[in-house]
Amino acid sequence: MDDCIFCKIVNKEIPAQVVYEDDEILAFKDIKPLAPVHVLVIPKKHIPDLTAITGEDTGLIGRLHLVATRLAEELGVADSGFRFVNNCKGDGGQVVFHLHFHLLGGRQLRGLG
Ligand code: AMP
Ligand code: ZN
Repeated sequence: MDDCIFCKIVNKEIPAQVVYEDDEILAFKDIKPLAPVHVLVIPKKHIPDLTAITGEDTGLIGRLHLVATRLAEELGVADSGFRFVNNCKGDGGQVVFHLHFHLLGGRQLRGLG
């Protein structure tokens, strides 16, 4: 989608520190990390937010979670613990409107919001 920063990362139009890629999923380091491990896991397909997923996306969303758990192992936070979170729309704190999940770990995370 035009003017979507994450589509531009998917299309290699702007750089990112990619830590995982396959045909349908991309993971890259957050540009403003909030924890020692802060990776964004996204579908390559442009889905604006979590409310826009359909029944056709259930496999994709499941595989995306599997990628996240594998990355948590690779990045050394699977045993210590981590968060895998989505911010949805305004009150959810979403800023980039291409579906993405934050993988956060490497320090004690407290509270929500
Ligand atoms: P959210 O509030 O869930 O929409 O989070 C958007 C996230 O994208 C923030 O944590 C930003 O730091 C991150 N972000 C924005 N632009 C980039 C970029 N070009 N590369 C990596 N992360 C980015
Ligand atoms: Zn997009």
